[in-house]
Amino acid sequence: MSSRGRGLLFIVSAPSGTGKTTVVERLVDLMPHLKKSCSYTSRPAREGEADGVDYHFISRERFEAMVAVDEFLEWADVFGNLYGTSASDTERLLAAGSDVVLVIDVQGARKVRQRGIENVAVFVMPPSADVLERRLRGRSKDSEEQIQRRLAVSHREVAAYAEYDYVIVNDELGACVDRLKGIVLAERATLKAMRAEVEGIVRTFEP
Ligand code: 5GP
Repeated sequence: MSSRGRGLLFIVSAPSGTGKTTVVERLVDLMPHLKKSCSYTSRPAREGEADGVDYHFISRERFEAMVAVDEFLEWADVFGNLYGTSASDTERLLAAGSDVVLVIDVQGARKVRQRGIENVAVFVMPPSADVLERRLRGRSKDSEEQIQRRLAVSHREVAAYAEYDYVIVNDELGACVDRLKGIVLAERATLKAMRAEVEGIVRTFEP
């Protein structure tokens, strides 16, 4: 473990199209010691996505084999594809003193909670259903059928906001990044997070 002590585990969830990945990527660029977890998925890479950067892209068979040996901290079926967070990758980062952010869906966040794993969970809300629909159409990555499916799922997902510790509205990207940064800084300053470091400081005052 580094002098920073063990890192904190953050979860960020939001309906598809809310812009959560962009928000988290901006934040990670701004904050040393904060790492975005790279999930495993059975979905094929989209244009512009790189293996090992956006996701670890693997076959459904390999994913199922990883489930069988309990390699995932959590995993879920989202829109017919499998997505999961590696338990060992996450543990390695936390043990090295990095804070880790999981960008995962509502089902995944529930599984982390059910397993009793300590975490700070943030829900990113789109400003309204209309804005979300416009964003999904604007990014033109999806077919009409996929857009309708994502919108239907988003109705269920926004209803889960009360399961989270913090909620932020992504009305403007810069403001949303600032709010998320504020949450990370505040969580790093709690007595619990600071105790190991502060005890070291207090010892320097001992005669
Ligand atoms: P996309 O295919 O658009 O990249 O992601 C679809 C959904 O899967 C998003 O809501 C994203 O947050 C979620 N997701 C990505 N990685 C994981 C993961 O490791 N676990 C879970 N539960 N959801 C994930």
